[in-house]
Amino acid sequence: MNSYRKELWFDTTRRREFINITPQVEQCLVESGIQEGLLLCNAMHITASVFINDDESGLHQDFEAWLEKLAPEKPYAQYRHNGYEDNADAHLKRSVMGREVVVAVTEGKLDFGPWEQIFYGEFDGKRRKRVLVKIIGE
Ligand code: ZN
Repeated sequence: MNSYRKELWFDTTRRREFINITPQVEQCLVESGIQEGLLLCNAMHITASVFINDDESGLHQDFEAWLEKLAPEKPYAQYRHNGYEDNADAHLKRSVMGREVVVAVTEGKLDFGPWEQIFYGEFDGKRRKRVLVKIIGE
């Protein structure tokens, strides 16, 4: 069995952002040379997510509006976590959107269903943060 590990770094300009990272993840798979196995991709920060969904801008606006209803960023004082920080909403949004994805690797490709793409979801951005890609197989 072979294994591959890489960290992908992101530096968002906004507090919240969704980035399609499928091309970078596919590049990792090519570099790994693995044909059959499993690929794990996870956020390495507790205020960011990795998730799979459709790359459709209306849907991304819907996610933003829905998450703001569930866990509004402001007022900051509504959260007990916001003593020294102001990112309680980001922790909650990350929990809803998930930490990681696992994708089957078949014949050297990500074995996606229709329209599936991998996204990095940033909820407390404007600083460098990373995603782990781990691939095992042969
Ligand atoms: Zn925090």
